Amino acid sequence: MHSPDVTAVFELPDETATQQLGEKLAPLLQPGLVVYLEGDLGAGKTTLSRALIRALGHTGPVKSPTYSLVEVYVISSLYLYHFDFYRFESPEEFLDAGFDEYFNDASVCLVEWPERAEGCVPPADLRLRLYHAGVGRVLEALADSPKGQACLNALIPAMGADSSSAMPAPR
Ligand code: ADP
Ligand code: MG
Repeated sequence: MHSPDVTAVFELPDETATQQLGEKLAPLLQPGLVVYLEGDLGAGKTTLSRALIRALGHTGPVKSPTYSLVEVYVISSLYLYHFDFYRFESPEEFLDAGFDEYFNDASVCLVEWPERAEGCVPPADLRLRLYHAGVGRVLEALADSPKGQACLNALIPAMGADSSSAMPAPR
């Protein structure tokens, strides 16, 4: 995998901060974007996704896809697929389920546990890695394509980030 073009680190001291990042990211998503959400159980991947999906205008419940593997949202003309591959026993389950068809120019794909479908799930434009940090979280964002880079370049000022709250991650 090539090294990311842009990286940034956001401090998320509480759940509200995670939700705020999801809300700020929502309007920056372009059709065709693939966003990986990485981090341990309880790191905040679903919390971030839920806030993002609500900010796009979805008013119903946003369930974790842990059991269903995918939840589908059609918001305006955008197809948003929220995946969770935690329960995969092998990456080939991705292909067996036909999920490759969901990754196309008209859809945004949010993917929790992409590593469980490694080699089968298409590459990310943007990777968001959540880490526990005391009682809060830290999010490291890595852009892997020009589309992901544009998104991250817009997210940094939208988060009101300055050198103290978003900084280039160490290489
Ligand atoms: P995941 O999908 O990564 O397994 P969830 O989003 O389901 O995690 O759960 C994350 C838990 O952590 C929730 O209880 C949520 O309230 C909490 N949480 C989310 N973001 C933060 C944060 N920045 N600081 C502290 N707690 C958080
Ligand atoms: Mg989750």
